[in-house]
Amino acid sequence: MTARLLIVGPPGSGKGTQSTNIAARFGIPAVSTGDIFRENVKQGTPLGLEAKAFMDKGEYVPDEVTNRMVRDRLNQADAAHGFLLDGYPRTVNQVEVLDALLAEQGHSLDAVIELTADVDEVVARLLARAQEQGRADDTEEVIRHRMNVYAEQTAPLLNLFSERGLLRKVDGLGSIDDVGDRIANALSDLDGSHV
Ligand code: AMP
Repeated sequence: MTARLLIVGPPGSGKGTQSTNIAARFGIPAVSTGDIFRENVKQGTPLGLEAKAFMDKGEYVPDEVTNRMVRDRLNQADAAHGFLLDGYPRTVNQVEVLDALLAEQGHSLDAVIELTADVDEVVARLLARAQEQGRADDTEEVIRHRMNVYAEQTAPLLNLFSERGLLRKVDGLGSIDDVGDRIANALSDLDGSHV
């Protein structure tokens, strides 16, 4: 099946977990820009070195760096028939670059899933995860900053997707299975329609 999907939501809303499941269901790769950056930081690549300082502060990595990385990733063979992007686009410029990239390929987005979540709830989740995994980008101060950056730069993009008729809002509160069922319902009209 072919589907070009985005999943958007504040840090800690469970995007990563859900996107793996949705992607498996549609037979498309889940592409998480956060995961790609973290992997590059771990491996000490030039991209990782460039991204690390921004990530540690809870800032966005500059658009040109992020856009280049996504373009390379979406040009790989496994993304030819679709993808689920998690954590991208996050700025107006990234939306424009993604639109242009898809237009070059003669494609467009099929749907944007918005996972909604209460701010206090997601901060609590991220703090718990920081304790479990010792993630450097997850101190309380950095988490609060990431929430602000999301509210300022990324939440406004949702209006844009809504105007295009792409937005599917899903309540992100609850068990992984419950949220997964809600997402499946929200996307049910896409099943089999893009073979
Ligand atoms: P995430 O796991 O998606 O919250 O991403 C972790 C960090 O990676 C973010 O706080 C940013 O520093 C960086 N990052 C991930 N995706 C993007 C993006 N689309 N634009 C800029 N920075 C990003």
